[in-house]
Amino acid sequence: MEAHFIVSAARPEQFPAESLPEIAFLGRSNVGKSSLLNCLTGQKKLAITSARPGCTQLVNFYRIGGEFHFVDLPGYGYARVPQAIVGQWKQLIEQYLLQRSSLALCFLILDARRGWMEKDLELKQWLEFHNRRYIVIATKTDKLKSQSDQRQGIAAIQSQTLDSEALPFSAVNCRGAREIWQAITKIKTQR
Ligand code: GDP
Repeated sequence: MEAHFIVSAARPEQFPAESLPEIAFLGRSNVGKSSLLNCLTGQKKLAITSARPGCTQLVNFYRIGGEFHFVDLPGYGYARVPQAIVGQWKQLIEQYLLQRSSLALCFLILDARRGWMEKDLELKQWLEFHNRRYIVIATKTDKLKSQSDQRQGIAAIQSQTLDSEALPFSAVNCRGAREIWQAITKIKTQR
């Protein structure tokens, strides 16, 4: 799938025209959001992965095969970020999620080992309140060594989701990418 970076936006005025259905990626910083984007597009360096959490403070837009925009929203919940900056991030994320009529689907990404954390639950409730469609992705499943640990991790995450299944994923071998793509292509038929 062809993927091109479009723009990094620090403010809503910098968001590109709403020309294509958008898929937004949300998660705590360091959860593995960039690695997931790179796997889905088959481009190792599309989104910059980093061992330093809290780096991305911008909304990054990518054009995917002339069919979708992928929208990488800034990671939240990193403890060492000052409150004033947290406020700015929250505002930027909320402005995007509230205003964007081309937004078709949100992926809420969780660490399969950790499950739901406070900020994830807040975001989930916020999405439900505002009627935004979301699907949960449980990433880093490779870190759960046994099959039964993996099943338990996914089941714990699943127990808190409304109607859709949580999708397991690992960036180590991109396992789970196909099912995520199926969920993405499905939105075309639902719109
Ligand atoms: P982001 O801050 O959410 O964009 O997270 P990154 O994609 O930059 O990943 C943060 C760290 O977790 C990096 O060191 C990645 O190599 C690692 N990581 C991401 N996804 C996985 C995964 O599925 N399995 C494992 N073992 N490590 C991962």
